[in-house]
Amino acid sequence: MTVIATNKPVLVTGASGYVAGWLIRALLEKGLTVHATVRDPARASSVRHLEALANSLPGELKLFKADLLQPGSFDIPMEGCELVFHTASPFVMTGFKDANEALLRPALEGTRNVLDAVNRCDTVKRVVLTSSVAATYGDAIDSRDVPRGTFNESHWNTSSSEHHQPYLYSKTIAEQEAWKMQRAQNRWELVCINPALVIGPSLTPASQSASITTLQQFGDGTLRFGAPEMWNGLVDVRDVADAHVRAGFTPEAHGRYIICAESLSLLDMGKALRQHFGSRYPFPRRSLPKLMFWLVAPVVGFTRDFVARNIGYPLAFDNQRSRRELGMSYRDVRKGLQEHFQQLIDDGLVKKR
Ligand code: NAP
Repeated sequence: MTVIATNKPVLVTGASGYVAGWLIRALLEKGLTVHATVRDPARASSVRHLEALANSLPGELKLFKADLLQPGSFDIPMEGCELVFHTASPFVMTGFKDANEALLRPALEGTRNVLDAVNRCDTVKRVVLTSSVAATYGDAIDSRDVPRGTFNESHWNTSSSEHHQPYLYSKTIAEQEAWKMQRAQNRWELVCINPALVIGPSLTPASQSASITTLQQFGDGTLRFGAPEMWNGLVDVRDVADAHVRAGFTPEAHGRYIICAESLSLLDMGKALRQHFGSRYPFPRRSLPKLMFWLVAPVVGFTRDFVARNIGYPLAFDNQRSRRELGMSYRDVRKGLQEHFQQLIDDGLVKKR
């Protein structure tokens, strides 16, 4: 039972991000003082939307510069905080050469640096870590090994590595390190939020989140010849922000919470978009046969191993714990997808047709 004071500041790392934007908005709405870290507070595109929120909401925003790879850089932003939300971590699936530099080092060393700062900061009582369902499973085929093919909070990703599904691996080793550091002391608690693929409108057009690039492929023709038979757990970004706030301020919150509304195939996602936008965009109409995807995989940036282990296996996640203990209820992800796609059009990230 930990009560977090609402008159003390709370820290949010990675404040410029897609998820963090909605989290900061929810915290400012509650009238809290938010210490928000970004790598470059002078970069207007990272902070403009946050400053606009702070101007119109009751809470107060204080921006700080901090880098995951710079030991000690979270000490000053954390001063006086009882609650730390650690959201910062690169979320990229493609476009990098060295997975260790692009993903693993910032995720793992970053978590260590933030938690080292927590260990030095006597006021902190609770850390809410933004993990992912990626820390509960590695490939869709792993669902054959769990009851009813459904992953829950007792499951861990055991099949990812630096060379296979490195983003999923980065989230797994970062969360494991966080639990290890939490168990080594008894002042602060750890609550992990494990969201599925986050969708829904972004407060910033500047995020590089793979949530945005995933949705862009529905508009750019990538899936026009068919969608690989792949499922994603999905959740609206506003529900993810709400889950963080509940995890922070619910005295009994503990352990891990899967945050997922439902699972849809890529074809289902395309169908939901077509229902709203009609046929103006090249949304997929059929499944791409696994063999065809397997043949072209290396050309379109996937390994054949990935195809073998992820295509044709439905994915499901159990959200009961979040409903029961955090009081979560979930928005309609089809509507969230439609709103998000419309926003990508409005922001020029998907070509207007
Ligand atoms: P995002 O918009 O790309 O945000 C990631 C944030 O991490 C950025 O604000 C970035 O800050 C920060 N960051 C990256 N490298 C950094 C470094 N070296 N030092 C300091 N900050 C660094 O992605 P997002 O989707 O909001 O993801 C936020 C969190 O949610 C991540 O932990 C991600 O793994 C997790 N998550 C996301 C999803 C999803 O579907 N989106 C699902 C499950 C979990 P700068 O702007 O300063 O570079």
